[in-house]
Amino acid sequence: MTRRELYEKVYDILDKVTPLQSDCGELCGKACCKSPDEDAGMYLFPGEEVMFSEVPSWLKIEPSDFTYGNNKTVLIAICSDKCQRELRPLACRIFPLTPYMNRNGVMDIRIDPRAVPMCPLARQPVSYSLDKDFIDAVSKAFRLLVKDKEILSFISAVSGLIDEQERLLDLFAPGYNRNRGKKQRGAIRRERY
Ligand code: SF4
Ligand code: SF4
Repeated sequence: MTRRELYEKVYDILDKVTPLQSDCGELCGKACCKSPDEDAGMYLFPGEEVMFSEVPSWLKIEPSDFTYGNNKTVLIAICSDKCQRELRPLACRIFPLTPYMNRNGVMDIRIDPRAVPMCPLARQPVSYSLDKDFIDAVSKAFRLLVKDKEILSFISAVSGLIDEQERLLDLFAPGYNRNRGKKQRGAIRRERY
């Protein structure tokens, strides 16, 4: 399967699902799409730029400072306007979930602690349980994606950011982590990837 075919398939799996059955944007005014920082964006997964051979006018793709594997640069997608939903990047489709790989190479799907500052679903997972179809779709997408070694290496690097964010939340926002509870910080879907 080419990268293009892989990402088309994964976009398709995640096309119709949303974190809640209702519109979660009503809880927060679509906070994840409205950053006050003009340079904030979503990391593209390795090779995902094939999906943007013609970059739409609402999107900018730039090299970021974040690297993975053997110093490979991660691209960042920065949207400046409301996107075309069918073209939104993978990171937007899975938000506020993320794949995570521990030091033993075991992977799971969990709530992304980097989403905590903006996303009520990440802050209060006990109050808002994510839709099972959404979790299933994210899990299914990553069963395909982890067959690509570069993507696996990227997930490993992202997991370092996740560890760092958990440490920062423990230090500077212990209330958030108490609300989330230990269980909600770990895997919400663990299976053989
Ligand atoms: S920040 Fe969270 S609750 Fe708000 S729209 Fe994004 S995913 Fe939904
Ligand atoms: S690309 Fe779309 S879904 Fe992603 S942050 Fe921008 S507006 Fe939101």
